[in-house]
Amino acid sequence: MLNVLFSAKPAAWAEYEAPLKDAFAKAGLAAHLSLDHAPADVDYIIFAPNGPVKDFRPYTKTKAVMGLWAGVETVVDNETLTQPLCRLVDESLTNGMVEWVTGHTLRHHLGMDTHILGQDGVWRDDSFPPVAANRPVTILGIGALGAACGQALHRLGFPVTGWSRSPKDIANIRCLHGDAGLRAALTDAQVVILLLPQTPETTNILNAETLALMAKGSFVINPGRGPLIDDAALLQALDSGQIAHATLDVFRTEPLPQDDPYWAHPKVTVTPHIASTTRPETAAEVIVENIGRGEAGKPFRFLVDRGRGY
Ligand code: NAP
Repeated sequence: MLNVLFSAKPAAWAEYEAPLKDAFAKAGLAAHLSLDHAPADVDYIIFAPNGPVKDFRPYTKTKAVMGLWAGVETVVDNETLTQPLCRLVDESLTNGMVEWVTGHTLRHHLGMDTHILGQDGVWRDDSFPPVAANRPVTILGIGALGAACGQALHRLGFPVTGWSRSPKDIANIRCLHGDAGLRAALTDAQVVILLLPQTPETTNILNAETLALMAKGSFVINPGRGPLIDDAALLQALDSGQIAHATLDVFRTEPLPQDDPYWAHPKVTVTPHIASTTRPETAAEVIVENIGRGEAGKPFRFLVDRGRGY
């Protein structure tokens, strides 16, 4: 019998208990899932950073920590964590992100606000949007989420460039990497989507210099993490017209403080970190499958590389 500790915010237990128990039963794994195992008895921890476990040292026989979140920046530096850490890659989370990114890209591409918000009884038939083929989109970060968004945007006809740390060869996406690749990826991009993890290397990756590489009047969409953007530089680029609009889902401080200039800025759309979320039914299956791999002596999937920070 495996002892599996569930450590997340209290409300998550009600959502996850049944799907996890079902997934263990379906996988044929005997597991005692609980909120309060004695640390020394725990085989696996199902973990969210906003749960009670902060010190992993007492979990001496724990074989792995299975994250419930895609982003790991709040746990990756925890020095007490010596057990393998797996982040969550979940089909529903990915699909949700694809829908959010595609919707906001199309909003800007089609200029939807003009007609949705500006209806004043005047017939203006002189403002056709370009077709997608003439609107280059760049995605910074083409991992699980960025690559899926890239494929969806490609299917709509957008020329898609993706940027990563290591070289990649992904069908339908012009793949660039490293420092030189960043410059080429941003040059003349009309929509830039941020799906990088938050690490020391990615902090302020969009700054005065990199924003200036983008096409005049282009769009920024950030469902990644707040610190990826130098906020002062973005506000300046919006005010100068270099950037036409920014749709921001994530911020340095969340909830975004009442007096933050982003709230009132006419060229900024704030969404409250809702781009996509983990769905218990699918996440439970992924986590239990990964625990099953560990029990079968196979390598875990979605292992976090603590040296890289993601
Ligand atoms: P992932 O699979 O780990 O992909 C990360 C991508 O970023 C990879 O392509 C990686 O390059 C690239 N990257 C990392 N550091 C880099 C660097 N220094 N230079 C260039 N490229 C770099 O992560 P994911 O599952 O797609 O998730 C991405 C992020 O989305 C998460 O970290 C989280 O912050 C955010 N997120 C937000 C929400 C929301 O609701 N707003 C929900 C889920 C996730 P390599 O491929 O070479 O490793």
